[in-house]
Amino acid sequence: MRTLITGGAGFIGSHLCERFLTEGHEVIAVDNLITGDLSNLDHLRTSPRFRFIGHDISNPLKVREKLDNVLHFASPASPVDYLEHPIPTLKVGALGTHNTLGLAKAHGARFLLASTSEVYGDPLEHPQKESYWGNVNPIGIRGVYDEAKRFAESITMAYHRVHGVDTKIIRIFNTYGERMRLNDGRVLPNFMYQALMGQPLTVYGDGKQTRSFQYVSDLVEGIWRLLFTDFHDPVNLGNPSEITIREFAEEILKLAGGTSAIEFRPLPQDDPKVRQPDITRARQLLGWEPKVGRDEGLKRTLEFFKRKLGKLA
Ligand code: NAD
Ligand code: UDP
Repeated sequence: MRTLITGGAGFIGSHLCERFLTEGHEVIAVDNLITGDLSNLDHLRTSPRFRFIGHDISNPLKVREKLDNVLHFASPASPVDYLEHPIPTLKVGALGTHNTLGLAKAHGARFLLASTSEVYGDPLEHPQKESYWGNVNPIGIRGVYDEAKRFAESITMAYHRVHGVDTKIIRIFNTYGERMRLNDGRVLPNFMYQALMGQPLTVYGDGKQTRSFQYVSDLVEGIWRLLFTDFHDPVNLGNPSEITIREFAEEILKLAGGTSAIEFRPLPQDDPKVRQPDITRARQLLGWEPKVGRDEGLKRTLEFFKRKLGKLA
């Protein structure tokens, strides 16, 4: 089998490239490196079954080799990144999804869209089930990401209904692990960097907002299982273990063993107050549930950041 992964040089994309190579696939990673890094693929680039294409997928792409699977993961993903690149974010969610669907259609390939819990916006239903339509501010600053992903879901379902493309949609909840960028602005790299450097941990707002953090290998397993099913509606993939951001700061501080203080900063506009996946659908459909708890996942990620910062003895 041959699998094309857009966003392959990113955090999640690089883990997917690795998994699909391990499963014996030929893998083509497509990335324009707007938020990704080729070094995420260093350990894979020597494989004869791996190829990298530098390309902005918001422009059409033709691939000569026959494709069996197209996984669309290209998009700035951290709030800091998509606020810095609002128009490329809208384009890759809209035009990029159109182009990758076109590729899947031309090759008769399976298609999987990386959607997000952000389609639920600042949710009024808690925890979030796939049946919830969400509460998104289309003209707010986060709208460039949320609405792009909502459009991406719509066009994916349209290609399924109109052209019969074998599509899947996953709604990914906050995911972390090795190869996240230290400076991507997301809460976990921020807190780990600050704790390791002895700087204050910056909690936005009062820190009572919640998130539910999933370790990357659990996500990859869910993607692998879903891709080969006949299921076309969206599936939440996340770890339901919910925590306030204030508690999360304390957890990371304890783990890193630092002496940093906690400092409060203004809450960004439209920051969701709660977020927790209902994973009943993934459990029933895929027999899937997260295996790596925060204690273990945070430890592994902290080791990775320590190595990056040259702080390992
Ligand atoms: P990331 O920024 O590490 O990876 C995204 C990759 O896409 C980068 O390598 C970037 O260079 C590439 N890219 C962006 N625009 C592109 C374009 N126009 N053409 C080609 N490549 C492009 O982020 P990530 O956390 O690995 O996220 C990957 C995907 O998963 C994204 O689609 C994101 O929306 C989705 N997602 C991630 C999370 C999470 O918690 N990490 C949660 C929900 C959804
Ligand atoms: N956050 C924080 N301090 C930081 C970065 C983020 O308190 O240094 C908060 C942010 O306001 C949000 C939560 O942590 O409530 C998660 O933010 P992140 O950017 O990781 O992703 P989001 O889940 O909002 O997309």
